[in-house]
Amino acid sequence: MTPTDKLPLDAPVTALRGVGHERSLQLARLGIRTVGDLLLHRPRRHEDRRHFLSIREVTGKGAVTVRGRVMAMGVKKFRKGTRSVFELIVDDGTARLHCRWWNLPFLEEQFAVGMDVMVHGRVVELKPRTIDHPETEVLEAGDEASIHMDRIVPIHPLTEGLYPRWLRSRVWDVVEHVASRVPEPHPGLATGGLPTRSEALQMLHFPGEMEDVELARRRLTFDEFVELQIEIQGRRRRLEARASGIPCSGDNRWMRPFLAGLGFMLTSGQTSVLREIRQDLALGVPMRRLVQGDVGSGKTVVAAAAALMVLESGFEVALMAPTEILALQHERRFRGWFSSLGLPVELRTGSTKTTSGVDGVGVRMTIGTHALLESGYDPERLGLVIIDEQHKFGVGQREQLVRKGRYPHLLVMTATPIPRTLALTLYGDLEVSTLRELPPGRGRVRTFVRGPERLPRVLEFVGEQIAAGRQAYVVCSRVDEDDGGAVKAVVREFGELQKALAPHAVGMLHGRMSGEEKEAVMTAFGAGRIQVLLATSVIEVGVDVPNASVMVIENAEQFGLAQLHQLRGRIGRGGHESYCVLVAAKESPEILARLKVLEDSVDGFEIAEADLRLRGAGEMLGRAQSGLPPFRFADLGRDRELLEFARTSVAAHPSASPGSVVGKTAGDRTVDS
Ligand code: ADP
Ligand code: MG
Repeated sequence: MTPTDKLPLDAPVTALRGVGHERSLQLARLGIRTVGDLLLHRPRRHEDRRHFLSIREVTGKGAVTVRGRVMAMGVKKFRKGTRSVFELIVDDGTARLHCRWWNLPFLEEQFAVGMDVMVHGRVVELKPRTIDHPETEVLEAGDEASIHMDRIVPIHPLTEGLYPRWLRSRVWDVVEHVASRVPEPHPGLATGGLPTRSEALQMLHFPGEMEDVELARRRLTFDEFVELQIEIQGRRRRLEARASGIPCSGDNRWMRPFLAGLGFMLTSGQTSVLREIRQDLALGVPMRRLVQGDVGSGKTVVAAAAALMVLESGFEVALMAPTEILALQHERRFRGWFSSLGLPVELRTGSTKTTSGVDGVGVRMTIGTHALLESGYDPERLGLVIIDEQHKFGVGQREQLVRKGRYPHLLVMTATPIPRTLALTLYGDLEVSTLRELPPGRGRVRTFVRGPERLPRVLEFVGEQIAAGRQAYVVCSRVDEDDGGAVKAVVREFGELQKALAPHAVGMLHGRMSGEEKEAVMTAFGAGRIQVLLATSVIEVGVDVPNASVMVIENAEQFGLAQLHQLRGRIGRGGHESYCVLVAAKESPEILARLKVLEDSVDGFEIAEADLRLRGAGEMLGRAQSGLPPFRFADLGRDRELLEFARTSVAAHPSASPGSVVGKTAGDRTVDS
């Protein structure tokens, strides 16, 4: 057997002393297959075993760690033997502690009277002192005692059949013999005074002081960010080296009449974003740009103007939207703008494929959903791909559409203002333009959080606003687009709402309706034939009816803040004072505090930061499509500085190449464009 200090990081765990086939299967359940994986197995917590509380000193409830000797133990059965409690009494010479486990009678086999044990858990009773379901560890004298005692020890995540001491001993072995000779992954890369990777791996498990754990985490986080940045920046450099951009900045022949016919002036933000886009389109490298702007900031006009530049240059444009409703709405707006210019606009969704306008100019604008990714859509001269609401798509889908052409330009738009850490992580290979201001003439949106008992009064208010000529949305959250049972709930609610708001007309919109049905309802609402729209969160993105100035969101606690802010963006689009009422079905203090963020702020960036802090990145983005790399150590809610630092470090050190760090690199992010 190779001695541990000769093993490489990618050696299988079975190469370690004491790890046989069965153990390796148990470790695999924890994702540990190699020596390197074992080094990165992050402790759940650490325990300072240099100083102990005596049991007599345990005088309050809460978490404690003590040690003592097993005095007595036994299993009691009750309810005809169907239930049991295993009790262990530990004495350290100052007092006794009772430990209880319910319905785990086999634990009896792990202990014996006279054994020395460590006990960690929450004290639930003081007379006698009692802990339920504590974590325990049997203390044994011997060579290895110093690994488990008289130091700060790691408490690692375990799996069935693995004991803490065994795992800690294996980790100790690799920390001693392998971690100590882990090289710096990228020699010469600035690390800003963080410990070396080798030091960090040692401190992560066996820190000298508690503070060392965080230092170690920061270094390992930095390394995760560095790998990501190397990949992102490398992809960008390869694109620049390989691809020549299609010159597409246009000649203004359609742009001029388009701008003149808009009926409003572009904001200075829109103008400067368009200037950036025009510069990108003229360059020899394909554009890769993200336009990030709060709901209502006017991204669609920017997209249309960018499309015109490319169409004027003789290339086609594709716009992909995440939902059918949104695709339909875009198609309607683009048709409104482009038909007078004689430009054909084609719609491709799962259910439709239509073209409006004559095909006399040789180029066309195609708008659609995921259907654009299918093989039926094969444009000959694709010059620009626009992706609306990028966060709803994965990086893979974005690249799939881009690959339909020969390095077309790419413009992605998102109305979910995302915190900078997320933007750098998810879109690090894109240049970012931000629309901060809203177009002028918008009324204020006032937001109120209310309990369910106020719903009748809220609906009365909706009735008053409608009587004054406004329109309203009622958002029903129980309804998931794909859930048939939930559709029933909207239908029931629809009846109730009709009664409550009679004689005003109420319409209904949900994900189970066909494209035509949705279109018909949206048209009726847009034209004011329907005053109230009961909808699921399918209206979340993009829907634009300026006269709608009231929104009631039921079960608001079920949404994330960023999503609520998006929904709220459907109102306040006209000049009227607008009202958003968040009805929280459950009124816990945390829920109310969370929703209060929306009462106090209308700044999407501020709200996104709060959402990220409160819920974490995965939840915030929706796990399945988030495209987030599987970080072990990074916390995007608080590691922004480290990410920025990793980014500049890598940029200053372009020879760094990926892959030299143990562990996994970023999953679905290796697609080249
Ligand atoms: P979003 O950024 O949410 O996609 P839209 O592009 O849908 O926003 O724009 C919201 C509304 O603002 C639309 O009705 C649009 O016509 C209007 N709008 C866009 N730009 C301006 C502007 N510069 N001045 C006035 N209204 C504008
Ligand atoms: Mg939009």
